[in-house]
Amino acid sequence: MIDTHCHFDVKSKDLLKKELKEIYQNGVEKLIVSCCTKEEQMKNIPLLLNEDMVYLSLGFHPEEAGKISTEDLNHLEKMLKSLPHVVAVGEIGLDYFYTKDQKKEQIQLFESQLKIAERLHLPVVIHSRDATEDTINLLQKYKINGVIHCFSGSLETAKIYMKMGFFLGIGGVVTFKNSHLKEVLSQIPLESILLETDSPYLTPVPYRGKENSPKYLPIIAQFIADLKQKDIKIVEEITNSNCKQIFHI
Ligand SMILES: [Zn+2]
Repeated sequence: MIDTHCHFDVKSKDLLKKELKEIYQNGVEKLIVSCCTKEEQMKNIPLLLNEDMVYLSLGFHPEEAGKISTEDLNHLEKMLKSLPHVVAVGEIGLDYFYTKDQKKEQIQLFESQLKIAERLHLPVVIHSRDATEDTINLLQKYKINGVIHCFSGSLETAKIYMKMGFFLGIGGVVTFKNSHLKEVLSQIPLESILLETDSPYLTPVPYRGKENSPKYLPIIAQFIADLKQKDIKIVEEITNSNCKQIFHI
């Protein structure tokens, strides 16, 4: 199966190889690694390149708003165009949970990157927190598709995104005891979801509290399979096909 959204703090090529091997042995064959700050991109991209199972999603996270220059955006566009295994612009979006005061800057940064995605015909990976209305309105201005990463909204919101042709990224949150996502997910077809861990964050039950890893993706897949009363193989097959459709991998 494919972890469509994770983060890596790459310490060395050797450690990365060791980690990737362990992930692969746990049944996760491919990863889309999100590099969404300048620092992350500078440090991680050279190490992640040329790893067969690693694909990249590059962009600037809403928390970077106010720190990104036109030059940075030009450099991002160049990387998106020229680097191998780049499959998406992201994660990009709006986060009004922590940084409400930077709304204007966030919207500006988000739109600049939506324009890049539209120009390059790349899908987008969306981070949206406490900002559903603005996110939907901005996405509707552009001819793009993609995934709402770490979706945890209402069924009504899910339906709007699905109607727009977006996939919903489902991760460890669905396994949390107090999460309402189970009820929402039970009414969403597998054809609209992608599996993700958002590692090292949001570790699924029963490993909650420990650091997350893409190797836990099968736990999330199994949880969804049980919820849907389907075999895990079916979940894998359909979400892999969704992944192929949107990211061409
Ligand atoms: Zn993320």
